[in-house]
Amino acid sequence: MAFRSPIGSEVERNNMPVNIWPGSWVDANAWTGNNPPKYMLGPGNPAFHTGADLNLPGDKDRLAQIYSIGDGVVRFAQLVSKTSWGNLVVINHGTVNGKPLFSRYGHVEDIVVQKGQAVKVGDPIAKVGNQFGVFPYHLHFDISVTNQLDKAPTYWPGLDLQGTKHHFVNPRNWLRENFNSAAEKLPDGAFASGGVSGGADEGRKPGDVKPLPVWYVIDPNGAQVYKNPSLTAEKSTILPRGSKVTVDVQNGRKDAELIWGPIVGGEYNGQWVAIRRNDGKASYLSTNPPQ
Ligand SMILES: [Zn+2]
Repeated sequence: MAFRSPIGSEVERNNMPVNIWPGSWVDANAWTGNNPPKYMLGPGNPAFHTGADLNLPGDKDRLAQIYSIGDGVVRFAQLVSKTSWGNLVVINHGTVNGKPLFSRYGHVEDIVVQKGQAVKVGDPIAKVGNQFGVFPYHLHFDISVTNQLDKAPTYWPGLDLQGTKHHFVNPRNWLRENFNSAAEKLPDGAFASGGVSGGADEGRKPGDVKPLPVWYVIDPNGAQVYKNPSLTAEKSTILPRGSKVTVDVQNGRKDAELIWGPIVGGEYNGQWVAIRRNDGKASYLSTNPPQ
C-alpha cells in the first residue's frame, strides 16, 4: 500500500516525495500549509478551494491520464451536471492514519471505472477534461479525511472555511507525508495490497478478517468460469449478468491481462472468474448489482 500523485508518468509518480506534482504540472489554487485559498469559482462566486487545480501550461494537460492515488473502491463515477463538476470520480481508500480517506477527481473525461469497482494505486481512472468547455483543461483533485464524500460525493463548502478545513487537507502535503502509508482497513470489496500481486500482505493486520464480499456479474455477456486462473484453462459454466458470486479477492491472481478471483462456496467452489482487466479498462464483476 502506498499513495501516489494522480498525474504524471510512472517514473514521476514513483519519485513523488521530491516533486509531488511532477514535471511541469502546477497547482493553480494551492493551499498554504493548512489553509485553503479563497478564489473565484466564477464571476461573483468566491469559494475556499478544497484541493488542487492541476494544470500543464497551454492546455497540454488536455486528456492527460489520471490515476488512482491509492488502493480502494470507487464510490462515485458519473456525470454530475455540465455546469457543476462535469464528470466526477470519488474513491474510498478505507481508513488511513485512523481517519477515513477519500480522493476526488473533478471535471474529468473518459471515465474507465465504475461505482463499486476495486482499484489499485496507479490504476487509470479517467482523463483530464474541461467540464464541457466551462474551464480551461485542468484536474480538480482533493483529499478528504472524513466520511463527507461518502455521504455527499459532490460536497462543496463554498465560503464555509471551517467546513473546508474540517473535511479536506492540503493534498500536496498529505501525499508527501503518506507516500508509504498503509490503510488500517480497506473498504469492503477492495483488493488487499499483497493479495493479487503475491507480495507481502502489507495492507492487513492480524485479526483484520472481513467477510468475503458478494460480487455481481456486470458484463452483458456474463462471466465465464474457468477451472484455473487462465484464459486457456478448461472452461466451466457461464454465469449470466446479474448473478451473485462470492469471490475471495485476497487470494486472487494477476496475469498480463486480467485480475482473477477464486469462487468460494456453491457449485463452482474453487473455480475462477476474471474480475477486471489489469489496465482498468473493463470490469466484469462489481460489488454493486448491474444498473
Ligand atoms: Zn478546483
